[in-house]
Amino acid sequence: MRKRRRKRIVTQPETLLQVRNLKKYFPIRGGIFGKKVGDIKAVDNVSFTVNKGETLGIVGESGCGKSTTGRSILRLEEPTAGEVEFEDSLLNELNGEEMRRMRRKLQMVFQDPFASLNPRKTAGAIIEEPLTVHGIGEARERKEKVKELLQVVGLDAYHAERYPHQFSGGQRQRIGIARALAVRPKLVVADEPVSALDVSVQSQVLNLLEDLQEKFGLTYLFIAHDLSVVRHISDRVGVMYLGRMVELAERDTLYDNPLHPYTQALLSAVPVPNPDAERERIILTGDVPSPSDPPAGCAFHTRCPYVMDICREKRPEFQDQGDGHFVACHLMDE
Ligand code: SF4
Repeated sequence: MRKRRRKRIVTQPETLLQVRNLKKYFPIRGGIFGKKVGDIKAVDNVSFTVNKGETLGIVGESGCGKSTTGRSILRLEEPTAGEVEFEDSLLNELNGEEMRRMRRKLQMVFQDPFASLNPRKTAGAIIEEPLTVHGIGEARERKEKVKELLQVVGLDAYHAERYPHQFSGGQRQRIGIARALAVRPKLVVADEPVSALDVSVQSQVLNLLEDLQEKFGLTYLFIAHDLSVVRHISDRVGVMYLGRMVELAERDTLYDNPLHPYTQALLSAVPVPNPDAERERIILTGDVPSPSDPPAGCAFHTRCPYVMDICREKRPEFQDQGDGHFVACHLMDE
């Protein structure tokens, strides 16, 4: 994997996206009348900001709510509560037509490039589709634009005539990225964009995303479970557990000095390249509780090696411990 370039120093970061107290609950229905008997709290009061031009990584085990967070921001899932402010608009207050127009600025790259591409359409038609939907350009201009986009993502113009099954996994993801870029978005939510790819191809796609970010001034919300991938591409990283954000900090701060016990455990499991470097592996006991019945207080208390009485009763606040290092843990109050 190529070493990450140092980004230009931005003195006053400009906020592009603000997520405030976002919740997404899925109803659980039971009985013969299908009455609602509970909720799966997939995203439970999550707040963070994304600055213009940065990559915010969101990491966590599968089922922690990171993908639902991304989808709820774009309203691919309707949020249950909370606010999502993008530029000067509250996305959650836009009507259908306003949201449709807004989607030009907000695009998504999906995990499985094969499942997300229509097998009956050529790569050219897939990339052209968002241009058509948003009424951009005449037919001939759109065809030219498709050729240009194919080249931007490292493919050739003749690939426009091929179908998804005629491409490798990495090439298919390049088509997915070209489709997302077609409408010149400002924010791209990339949901596990490389996890279905071979390791060698992963780095090519990550490098491509970085190059495109620089070229088009993109802002990324990068969702993944692989801590090394997230470290490679992110400027800041947020860690989610059971629908909640438990820690968020500058990338190096988080990886070098994790403060939340869950982040510490996650990072202790990542192999270090230096065999002489000592790192104590923290083994968590117990299973991740169900999001339909999350524990009271701190959601991590059933597995935390430092659990205290207060952790079982009171939910810790997600607070800035200094320099934008946010942590939700009662240990910070000690
Ligand atoms: Fe552990 Fe308590 Fe901190 Fe939760 S609040 S992570 S249980 S110490």
